Amino acid sequence: MNPRLLFWVPALLRLLMLLGLAGLAWSMAGVVAGLSVAVLLLLFQILLQLSYLQQLSNWLDDFNSAKLPDGWGAWTDVFSRLYRLRRDDERSQAELTEWLARFRQAMHLLPDGVAIMDDVLFLEWCNPAAERHLGLTLARDKGMRVTNLVRHPDFIDYIVLGRYEQPLTLSLRDRKLIVQIIPFENRRQILVTHDATESARIEEMRRDFIANASHELRTPLTVIVGFLEIASTTPDLDVASRQAHLKLMTEQGHRMQRLIEDMLTLSRLESVDYPLRPEPVAVKAVIEDVLEEARALSGGQHAISASIEGPDVVGSADELRSAFANLASNAVRYTAPGGAVQLRWRDMPEGPQFSVTDTGIGIDQLHIARLTERFYRVDKSRSRETQGTGLGLAIVKHVLLRHRASLSIHSEPGKGSTFTVMFPKR
Ligand code: ADP
Repeated sequence: MNPRLLFWVPALLRLLMLLGLAGLAWSMAGVVAGLSVAVLLLLFQILLQLSYLQQLSNWLDDFNSAKLPDGWGAWTDVFSRLYRLRRDDERSQAELTEWLARFRQAMHLLPDGVAIMDDVLFLEWCNPAAERHLGLTLARDKGMRVTNLVRHPDFIDYIVLGRYEQPLTLSLRDRKLIVQIIPFENRRQILVTHDATESARIEEMRRDFIANASHELRTPLTVIVGFLEIASTTPDLDVASRQAHLKLMTEQGHRMQRLIEDMLTLSRLESVDYPLRPEPVAVKAVIEDVLEEARALSGGQHAISASIEGPDVVGSADELRSAFANLASNAVRYTAPGGAVQLRWRDMPEGPQFSVTDTGIGIDQLHIARLTERFYRVDKSRSRETQGTGLGLAIVKHVLLRHRASLSIHSEPGKGSTFTVMFPKR
């Protein structure tokens, strides 16, 4: 029904009833009685309406949908509509609060920084990542000009020039940041910051790796090309020299081959397309192979022994063989003839451990943290002399990462080293 009719029909009916009652009193007890009844009924009506008004006013002081008073007559409709409005309002407010909480949480977790500024760069709000990146504290810096908070000349120039379509790379507080300002609404701007320190470091590592690898390949190639030139310009070279040149060229060829094999192994170990396929590994057999290889490399010049007591593990037998063999070959290569190398596989309370102990040249403490970097060598010429590629420990590190194992190195210059591979407890 039309809401107006809904209001007026019962009100008129009530008035008619009131007039009927007054008329009845008039006809039964005379005009004074009729008028008195009419006045009393009217007074009662007015008091009733006033009491509803009072209840409505109380409710408006503390509006809560659950406490809305019940009404009578037209008030029923007014109260029920108010109740519906209030309930809808409460629902949308709850939704809004939930959205706001979700938005706040998302902004909190965002690794990128977001700061909202007005048109004259006064800070209105920022998330924790922006606080970290730019060194801000929202509670302290809110309402301050961002150019007074981030006092980097490149940042000031960026704002002065206003070329916001391009991001700015900023070195700030030992981090590399990519910063961009995005104007939004009419009078606001968002400042977005992205921490690119890690990707810059990876990019630098990639550049270093290419430079190092090219350098490592160029050296043997130069030797080979040199001898080839001698061979072509001196056709009547004596047989002994020719033999010596061929021997050196073959050695350099092998060196390039080892280098390329190690680079391929490393790139395979790092590749996501080459996940570890775990299988039970008979560690005893693996270490026996490694022992045999180490003895062949030593050519009987070292005392090499092995004690194998630990359990079998789950992983890749080939990868573990290559990691253990790298450690054993290093021990042989960096230990003078007459020294000793011991391989050991044992079960410890923290998990099984493979260790290689030698009585070799040892390593100064300052090099130890960097040994697993690609091409890092304590002594470049010694590594080359012993046919090292500089990639052995980097390969070991990657194999261990894939097996959730870790490497610890203890060494004393002049006394020897122990490289220990620690597997997690099963
Ligand atoms: P390389 O092919 O040069 O041996 P690695 O990555 O295997 O490369 O080792 C990196 C460097 O760590 C070596 O160049 C050497 O200086 C040092 N190193 C590794 N193992 C030993 C060891 N057992 N004793 C002394 N120095 C070692």
